[in-house]
Amino acid sequence: MCKKGLLIVFSGPSGVGKGTVRKYFQADPELKITYSISMTTRQPRKGEVDGIDYFFVTRERFEEAIANGELLEYAEFVGNYYGTPFDYVEKLRNEGKNVLLEIEVQGMLQIKEKCPDALTIFIVPPSMKELERRIRGRKSESEEVIQERLAKAEKEMLLEKEYEFVVCNDDVLRAASEVASIIRKHM
Ligand code: 5GP
Repeated sequence: MCKKGLLIVFSGPSGVGKGTVRKYFQADPELKITYSISMTTRQPRKGEVDGIDYFFVTRERFEEAIANGELLEYAEFVGNYYGTPFDYVEKLRNEGKNVLLEIEVQGMLQIKEKCPDALTIFIVPPSMKELERRIRGRKSESEEVIQERLAKAEKEMLLEKEYEFVVCNDDVLRAASEVASIIRKHM
């Protein structure tokens, strides 16, 4: 029987560049990483694809998933639900794959309760000014949502102490290689 894969929780404030850092270390085949696709009620952004970036669902479908116990964790973030499908994660881990959850801090706290052996990594920006610049650069949200996401980021940063590892995204390649070496040490 193969060794069960790691459960890796990867978080950081909105706009910090988690997705970009992830794409770099995820490309390393030695790390055997599979990205867990979340379910969300948020509308797709330009270029996002259903079943690849997220499973985009209605609030009714999401609430049904909560009621049926289909989710390993879930949270409400700036007016939308986000959650991790449980069966999919278990199946991949049982196949020996290291499963990466890119989720916000409330979800991480639930995972710490349910899976104390999860590896938790928090990505921080070099400064709050730089974070604001990155969120605005994405040009996908209204001013109201940008303000909400920035306020949320300030709160999320207070929870970085709940994570085992904190990595600064000052440079994407450097941050990706630091995350890769953390994962390698735990395999
Ligand atoms: P975004 O709307 O920018 O894609 O995601 C907003 C926040 O929700 C990000 O911090 C992202 O990591 C988080 N998120 C994405 N999927 C999940 C999930 O399944 N569960 C939780 N708790 N957070 C998630």
